[in-house]
Amino acid sequence: VKVLLTGGSGFIAAHIVDILLQHGFDTVVTVRSEEKGKRILDAHPDTPKEKLSYVLVKDVAQDGAFDEAVKSNPPFDYVLHTASPFHFTINDPVKDFLDPAIKGTTGILKAIKAYAPSVKRVVVTSSFAAIVNSKQHPKIYSEKEWNPVTWEEAMDHSQVYRASKTFAEKAAWDFVEKEKPNFDIATINPPLVFGPIVHYLNSLEAINTSNQRVRDIIQGKFKEKIPPTGTFLWVDVRDVALAHVKAIVVAEAGGKRFFVVAGYFSNKRAVDAIREAHPKLESKLPSPDVADDFPSNIFGFDNSKSREVLGLNYRPFKQTISDTAESLLDVGA
Ligand code: NDP
Repeated sequence: VKVLLTGGSGFIAAHIVDILLQHGFDTVVTVRSEEKGKRILDAHPDTPKEKLSYVLVKDVAQDGAFDEAVKSNPPFDYVLHTASPFHFTINDPVKDFLDPAIKGTTGILKAIKAYAPSVKRVVVTSSFAAIVNSKQHPKIYSEKEWNPVTWEEAMDHSQVYRASKTFAEKAAWDFVEKEKPNFDIATINPPLVFGPIVHYLNSLEAINTSNQRVRDIIQGKFKEKIPPTGTFLWVDVRDVALAHVKAIVVAEAGGKRFFVVAGYFSNKRAVDAIREAHPKLESKLPSPDVADDFPSNIFGFDNSKSREVLGLNYRPFKQTISDTAESLLDVGA
């Protein structure tokens, strides 16, 4: 059984590769350069090339970007689409975020419909960003909620990442409804993802966005002042990766969104978890009694669908933060 995974050089995708291989899938990843492709193969020296290989897709926003990548012999059975920009260097909201997110998603669905009739399901990596309503939180967040962000609001640099994920996911569901392709889709909607890095890093400066605050804590950047937490919901990358694979293995996952969330956190709680797991870092950390910005009255969340349909069993926060810190210390943080 063969799977195409887009954005193979990404933080989450690196974990998905390992879980796909463990499940015995033949895996082809898309990457933007030969160098990144080779790095992935080098990290799996014992895996034969019919089990793991790469194809180049330089920019998912280009028309027809995936037309060649989806053609394969033997043909693909499933596609996992994770490639999408997640960073905060924004020059042009449309070119840097909205186009790659939205056109990347519709582009791969169109290419599959046209050139890969064997594909049965496509799993799209969406986000809590496509669920959250920061102006008016509901009592309980679940898969029923949608971020009400508008195109105009998306031009605001602080909104554009969330908007890109919202519009991309909507475009995927619209495509299936209008085009009625041979495949169904499922989406995985994680909040902030922490966890060990398994991909080769150029430098700690180039670390994926969601792990940056763990790096900052262990480098002493929170010692004087802990920045505001932001979202207060998190999940472990290994659970997110497993969710993607379960979403192809479990027949009933088709046609569903999955809000994959492990629990609440705050930056202060992350500091405390690091203090407990790595006492040698004490001198880099703020004092144990600095204020915690975790609100006294916070929205609820419902992750029952992910537990019941995908069988997820979420890792606890302390373990994840400890493992993340460990993996960053290993690369010299
Ligand atoms: P990474 O930045 O590590 O991965 C993003 C991947 O997308 C990289 O492989 C990147 O390639 C690729 N990519 C970005 N833009 C383009 C483009 N224009 N053309 C081709 N490839 C592109 O981030 P994550 O692993 O964290 O994110 C993976 C997915 O998960 C994204 O869809 C993100 O929105 C989603 N997500 C992440 C969360 C998190 O907290 N980490 C939370 C919720 C959702 P390259 O390496 O070459 O830049």
